[in-house]
Amino acid sequence: MKRPSVRFYVLHRRVGLHGCDALQTDDAVIGEPPRCEACGDPIGMRAWLPPLRVNFWVCREGYCDLVYPTNDDILVSLRFKKIFEHEHLRGLSSFDPVELAKVRPKRRAKEPPPAYFRARVCRSQAVLDKVASGYEAREPGPTCPVCLVGPPISRWKGIVIKEETWPGEDILHPRGGSGHIIVSERFKQICERHAVKNACFVPAEEYSGDFYPAETEDWAIRIYDETLAVLRTMNKAGRLDDYVRAMEEMREHVLIDPEFDWIEALRERFEGRIDPIGDAAHDAHYNLVAPWIAKYVRNRGGQASRS
Ligand SMILES: [Zn+2]
Repeated sequence: MKRPSVRFYVLHRRVGLHGCDALQTDDAVIGEPPRCEACGDPIGMRAWLPPLRVNFWVCREGYCDLVYPTNDDILVSLRFKKIFEHEHLRGLSSFDPVELAKVRPKRRAKEPPPAYFRARVCRSQAVLDKVASGYEAREPGPTCPVCLVGPPISRWKGIVIKEETWPGEDILHPRGGSGHIIVSERFKQICERHAVKNACFVPAEEYSGDFYPAETEDWAIRIYDETLAVLRTMNKAGRLDDYVRAMEEMREHVLIDPEFDWIEALRERFEGRIDPIGDAAHDAHYNLVAPWIAKYVRNRGGQASRS
């Protein structure tokens, strides 16, 4: 894929991160989602209204600067809020105070937590280029010319922003995006310079995904071979020799019959004790559909511990 002259990154918030977690309390007040003024369809998740209270999980590294509840908002520490303001970054607003109702686990909650704020990420006029991003629609359907939301997608190759449409925000939801948060190169550099904790950036054009990988060609044998390859790398002291050998023997069956349920066959063979194979299959899945996870999320070289 052609590299754009302006670099954008995705602020990665899910798979493979081990930072702090925050969940809205059960009494959270949930409002309406933002809607497109033209087609009326929701263009984001339903709004979380004050008072904002969360149950907070502290990670091994202590309190993170960025925390991602399961909605469109992000929580930022007081330290991050100051950095954002002093550096004149653009694209976050609101900064509503968040109350930490419970902080767990107790052993990591000895120090008082920093103040946290819920920041809203702006809905930018920047346009996500669906063609350059390799979007594959699940079924044909109209795309709204204003919000650019179209039919649900199956898979995509990366995220490319039409540079000429970008008004210059440092953190944004692009039009036609699928909820991913995009940041500017400057945002990334400033986070790195200040060692902002729990900020993980992936070059946007590499940020691929696939909701239906089993529909792609040769998936059965590809996922099998990748699982076996991961298992071999996990097999440092020969502890997993039995599993590796079993998978080598079983490969022929998968080649002949792509429907062959090899996980079930291995489970029977090892009387249910196949956790290492499960772990390997999990990593293998992401290696095939989202190779950037291994490259930018798992191998961050202790970025999280730098504080
Ligand atoms: Zn619309």
